[in-house]
Amino acid sequence: MLRMNEEEPVVPLVDAHCHVLTNPSKVEPEHELSNHRISRALMSNNPYDWNRLQSTQFEGNDRNLPQYKGFGIHPWYSHLFTLDHNKTLTKDEHYRQVLIFKQTDDTILSNLIQNVLPDPVYIEDYISKIDFNKVDLIGEIGLDKSFSVPSNGFYQGHDSNNIITNTRIKVSMDHQLKIFNRMLQLACVHSLNVSLHDVNCHMKLLDTCQQHLLKNPAINICLHSYTGSIDFLLTQWIKTFTEDRIFLSVSQYINFKKIEGNIDYSQVPQKCILTETDYIVDSNNITDIFLQDSLKNTLENLTNVIPLASSQDTRKLVYENFCRFMHT
Ligand SMILES: [Zn+2]
Repeated sequence: MLRMNEEEPVVPLVDAHCHVLTNPSKVEPEHELSNHRISRALMSNNPYDWNRLQSTQFEGNDRNLPQYKGFGIHPWYSHLFTLDHNKTLTKDEHYRQVLIFKQTDDTILSNLIQNVLPDPVYIEDYISKIDFNKVDLIGEIGLDKSFSVPSNGFYQGHDSNNIITNTRIKVSMDHQLKIFNRMLQLACVHSLNVSLHDVNCHMKLLDTCQQHLLKNPAINICLHSYTGSIDFLLTQWIKTFTEDRIFLSVSQYINFKKIEGNIDYSQVPQKCILTETDYIVDSNNITDIFLQDSLKNTLENLTNVIPLASSQDTRKLVYENFCRFMHT
């Protein structure tokens, strides 16, 4: 007889896209992540969080769910990298080449370069130090037309001690594309799935992915917090790559700001749906329960709109999809 308090095997929650802290100035205390309720894909965006991600410890339990680690350069950090292999450009020349700015913002730019922006990192040096045996996917990578450089040089989470504003200075699309292309090449060389960021670059992102990934059927594509239209998803992404290779990781705070969701999820093939938090999961302010609740909320919202019979069914679907996404 089944005892009432006997715990039923619980289907794991899925966080297909989340982050660790980016904090170049101070050493953050070690943080142990739990791994017995949530299976995750943790992204790296920049040189600072890559080290953090490598040193992240997992709790260790009798039930250890897979925790995948991504390697990437997010478009919000692309200006910190140079492709100048002769390394002849000065710091000033580099930033003036990759950033787009109005003449009236020249003083602001000079201040940024002198006071807050780091020396650019040569991208091939950066890549050459990575042990790709420890990389499970390429991410977060992508393109962002709306991003402008913050007054502290690059996004470092929420800094309560300093007021950070956005400048009008942007990273050129040409430079973003060069970095994105290089990251997609890496995905192909190492046959790794990708997790993609796209703000207002839908067609360019698709085109670039097509050039690299169409000929590599083993590489799956996760469109994280997708903000394009349902039409573009169905007639472009899925038509091009088929529904076997396209995954949408759905977040609470981007995709379910409205209770009905940002697109009609009932039209999305069910096998394409994943969940994500996009949160920084190793901050001491964030508890495991909070992360679980966020994922459960997303599952519930999805259940209402897909529709499936219960959020437990959706949870099972999403976990199976995640296993397929990661080829496990
Ligand atoms: Zn992200």
